[in-house]
Amino acid sequence: MVTSEGIKRLAKQLGADLCGIASMDRFEGAPKEQDPRYIQPDAKSCIVLAFRIPRGYLRGIEEGTFFSTYTALGYAGINEVFGPIVLRELCCYLEDEGYESVPLPNIYLRPSVYFDKEPGDPSVSVPVSPDKPFPDVMIDQRVAAYAAGLGEYGWSKVFLTPEFGPLQRFACLLTTAELEPDPIFEGKICDRCKLCARSCTGHAISMTEADHMTIAGHDIEYAKLDLKACSIAYRGGDPDYNPFLATGVKPEDYNQLWMGSPVLEKAVGIELYMRHGSALEGARGCMRECYNHLEKTGKLRKKFSTPFRKPGFKHWKIDRSLYPDIVVGQKQSHDKTLL
Ligand code: SF4
Repeated sequence: MVTSEGIKRLAKQLGADLCGIASMDRFEGAPKEQDPRYIQPDAKSCIVLAFRIPRGYLRGIEEGTFFSTYTALGYAGINEVFGPIVLRELCCYLEDEGYESVPLPNIYLRPSVYFDKEPGDPSVSVPVSPDKPFPDVMIDQRVAAYAAGLGEYGWSKVFLTPEFGPLQRFACLLTTAELEPDPIFEGKICDRCKLCARSCTGHAISMTEADHMTIAGHDIEYAKLDLKACSIAYRGGDPDYNPFLATGVKPEDYNQLWMGSPVLEKAVGIELYMRHGSALEGARGCMRECYNHLEKTGKLRKKFSTPFRKPGFKHWKIDRSLYPDIVVGQKQSHDKTLL
């Protein structure tokens, strides 16, 4: 017999760090394009897996010396390699037990995400019939994590768990197996220190203005976010926080920094593009600063023998005046391949 306890045990054996379970009614009120019940109408449960981002994945960015681990392993490695492998194993186990199961990896397949278009734009996709949403329906992984009782939203809207704070990524599995759902998390992790907002290089997180949403009857409050500013900073669009931005992009092109864009290739340098892709700034406020704060205040269950932040630490910021020959946004003689 398949039980919640058994599924959690197996998920952890397979490599997930956390596992929570939501009943499908907790998605009531989700926008159609994010409602998993349109993906598998007879699903009874949503299993949510969390994969930690090991603290050491951020060390090189914290020091300003090595950027590949976080962007490659901490991002794509978890979302596109490790998570899907665990999802497949769990899916096959459930199907062996007779329950159809649909893995929902944390991979943004909806073209609107890539091309800066709203769901519902017919140049992106059209519903296969008038009663259906625009494909691909993409579950909001953080909503699922909340519905599965894994933690809470921080002020930054980054999801926080009591184990790892902001350092994890999620993947979901819908299944026809009826599993005992977890209670909604009732603890308090975020103390509204607002260090995330103060330290965000993109100034994307409001210090004072809030937005709200409702999940499973619970009101969720988080900061008003400037998603465009977040997107630019996160993809290395700010020359002061991107050591690879030698030729870069013109400020008027910053809103073109979606994955796959030739402008993004310029932003990170073409030879580094495949390795770094994005997330070069290492989520300075919403992840690193938040993590450091939660660790220092003893909020996290995962403990280390040494603190994340070293004594005398100062956030790095590139002094571009030291490199007068490199004019960001203009043609560089060594950069013929980009032009
Ligand atoms: S940095 Fe502070 S305010 Fe921001 S999410 Fe973390 S705990 Fe909450």
